[in-house]
Amino acid sequence: MSVYLKLTRIHWPNTQFVQSVANPEEFPESNLPQIAVAGHSNVGKSSLMNALFGRKGLVKTSKNPGCTRLLNLFDVDQQLLVVDLPGYGYARAPKKEQNRWISMIEGYLVNADIKLVLVLLDIRHGPKDSDMKLIEWLNESGIRWLPVATKADKLSGNQRSGRLKEMSEAMGGLLSPLPTSSFKGAGIDRLRAVIQEELSREPDF
Ligand code: GDP
Repeated sequence: MSVYLKLTRIHWPNTQFVQSVANPEEFPESNLPQIAVAGHSNVGKSSLMNALFGRKGLVKTSKNPGCTRLLNLFDVDQQLLVVDLPGYGYARAPKKEQNRWISMIEGYLVNADIKLVLVLLDIRHGPKDSDMKLIEWLNESGIRWLPVATKADKLSGNQRSGRLKEMSEAMGGLLSPLPTSSFKGAGIDRLRAVIQEELSREPDF
């Protein structure tokens, strides 16, 4: 619990890759608070994490989408563990494989002491069925989550606000996605501030 009180301002570039694990049981012991990053394959997850960490190339883009089934762990400034979840919903993966994947992600999330899940959504497409399944499951499980819209540079200002409103409505209207562009660096400082704030919150007991 003292984790909340001890957290100081995170120095994001002080991030190190810890390890990849193939299933949640292999997860190393750690007292650090955790946040997880989830999203459809190709949503821009690796690019966003590199922008968040301020470290180009630390998070590797999978050349073979849908084939990365590992959870990749990053230690941020010895204050936070960021868990990169495997991208889901890859169209060419067989249904059975996709379901196995989702159970793996859910199995991890339900057992870990997760403070927040960033749910990445491409601003052009909004939430897909697989995103909605994850969001509904997070709501049912009482896990806090934050929608993050990626690739905001692909739309003009007006289109962007319209899309964000539609996306929020599609997800129940309670949360508005935070627009980001990894290419332009837009929204990244705000995302860092939101994460820092979430980690400093007193837990709701
Ligand atoms: P991942 O599969 O979710 O890890 O996604 P990547 O980070 O590898 O990005 C997938 C594709 O989207 C790549 O072609 C990136 O160049 C592109 N992309 C990622 N972020 C942005 C962004 O902020 N703006 C634009 N325009 N393209 C992006």
